[in-house]
Amino acid sequence: MPEATVPQTTMPQATVIERSTLTCPHCGFAADETMPLDACQFFYECRGCGAMLRPKPGDCCVFCSWGTVPCPPIQLQRAVGAATQCCGPPASA
Ligand SMILES: [Zn+2]
Repeated sequence: MPEATVPQTTMPQATVIERSTLTCPHCGFAADETMPLDACQFFYECRGCGAMLRPKPGDCCVFCSWGTVPCPPIQLQRAVGAATQCCGPPASA
């Protein structure tokens, strides 16, 4: 029996979860969404009630505020132990 070629599961970079479940604060509708890996999503239209969701103050994207998983940039920063400043402008104001 030939050796099975098992793909290496060890990834060179931190594992980033691309899927996040966004829960609408207005109607409670939860939608499983795929996050962009290199950008933040500032607006999200609820599939349940059509409300335009925005990040909470201090958050840069709707996934950080309303999702079960923060956005990929935050995940990467946490993976390397950096401050969890989101990809938006520094909250120094
Ligand atoms: Zn809604």
